[in-house]
Amino acid sequence: MSAAETIHVDGVWRAAASGAQREVLDPADAKTLAVVSEGGAEDTDAAVAAARRAFDTGPWPHTPVAERAALLRRVADLLQRDREKIALLESRDTGKTLEEGRVDVDDVTNAFRYFAQIVVGESAGRVVDAGTQDVHSVVVHEPVGVCALIAPWNYPLLQASWKIAPALAAGNTFVVKPSELTPLSTMYLMELLVEAGLPAGVGNLVTGTGDPVGARMAEHPDVDLVSFTGGLVSGTKVMQAAAPGVKKVALELGGKNPNVVFADACDTAEGFDTAVDQALNAAFIHSGQVCSAGARLIIEESIRERFVAELARRAEKIKLGRGTEPGVECGPLVSARQLDKVEAYVAAALEEGALLRCGGAQPEPSDVRPATGYFYLPTILDQCNREMRVVREETFGPILTVESFRTEDEAIALANDTEYGLAGAVWSSDTARARRVAGRLRHGTVWINDYHPYLPQAEWGGFGKSGIGRELGPSGLAEYRETKHIYENLRPAPVRWFAG
Ligand code: NAD
Repeated sequence: MSAAETIHVDGVWRAAASGAQREVLDPADAKTLAVVSEGGAEDTDAAVAAARRAFDTGPWPHTPVAERAALLRRVADLLQRDREKIALLESRDTGKTLEEGRVDVDDVTNAFRYFAQIVVGESAGRVVDAGTQDVHSVVVHEPVGVCALIAPWNYPLLQASWKIAPALAAGNTFVVKPSELTPLSTMYLMELLVEAGLPAGVGNLVTGTGDPVGARMAEHPDVDLVSFTGGLVSGTKVMQAAAPGVKKVALELGGKNPNVVFADACDTAEGFDTAVDQALNAAFIHSGQVCSAGARLIIEESIRERFVAELARRAEKIKLGRGTEPGVECGPLVSARQLDKVEAYVAAALEEGALLRCGGAQPEPSDVRPATGYFYLPTILDQCNREMRVVREETFGPILTVESFRTEDEAIALANDTEYGLAGAVWSSDTARARRVAGRLRHGTVWINDYHPYLPQAEWGGFGKSGIGRELGPSGLAEYRETKHIYENLRPAPVRWFAG
């Protein structure tokens, strides 16, 4: 693959039909990391046509499930073989630390292995008792068809893989579009799929922007399913574009996630330290550019001052820098645009009366922090309330807002007072209370006395405007399957409904 041949159609890497290219920047110094093809509608159409042909006339949808699963396992092995290389690529492209890049590769590997495993176990379908021996009734699963897979920039490889692995396991063909900001690891994954033996046309990739490439994918008449992970605004557009074709649509959108801490979680020194430590992790890992970031600390009033003071003390010590540098704990934001957005949210919050406890600015440059990088200090805004934009909207940056409560009902009301509903946590040493609160939170994932872990076996997705459908778990495979009922009459006879 040469520098600008980054579009993969029917097994061949090629440049954009228009010849257009884009520079992919390293967010740590804003220098060019790679040059990729800037795909357009013509490239998208070619990729969809290849996927359509591969689905309609190729062997993949009918390949025995065990063989499809074996291919997924080979991909998992290849991911592990190239773990360091991919982690480095992901770190440089997104800005995240190398260690986070490694974790991502391991999580992606686990996802490929998980779908390889469950697709075999779940493939047979189910015989239905029709109430008579003269009927054989069976419900089977089939692939949906051509899948348009659109991924964001914060977890490029992971989000693309949560779609690619189940799509392939179920026998679909696909066109994937990585974010224009971070396409490199998805391109690498495409190489691994080819190396693992994926037939030409089954997997296609178009590099380019949301409009035209993503938009064309979402509206394309030959696409059967659109699975999109990204922001609420683009997700709404995807759903609208897919509507005239009545395509299946899966949306994984943003979140404004509450981290609810009861004072009893901090009754012991160890409990206090753990809750503070995890609140820090919840809000600031990957500089807060995480859909499930615990960006709203909702804390019991009696413990607030002590908790926030310790949180701010520790947040100020977070080591910011280029993600590949040893000792660095947080990388830059992904782009100048993202940095501007974060700055604007902080400015608006301060105008609306929030109290800055730490951060609120770009850090001084250093030997691990080039002046041209998009760095922003971990920022804690105290005295926040639900009227503030910074509390209602997803900032997708290192901003933690603090609200407080006095009663359990108040805590729940605050935590549910969001148009989103992706994830949240509750911290309490009272098990009954923790479970009670978890049961009432309107969010797709709820952690009790923890933050951030997820399992490939468990569904991931959102209530409310955090999306439609689920990834991972059995539902994550079901998204990519049609369900068909075959009713076979073993003793056909006239029904005589009409007498004549
Ligand atoms: P984004 O919406 O700007 O872009 C996401 C993808 O959609 C990109 O590939 C982009 O090019 C494409 N796109 C943009 N406009 C489009 C359009 N009109 N039609 C089709 N495609 C279009 O999001 P982003 O800034 O890349 O990612 C951040 C967002 O993703 C955050 O809101 C975050 O919460 C969300 N996210 C959600 C999850 C989840 O699991 N729910 C996971 C990761 C990220």
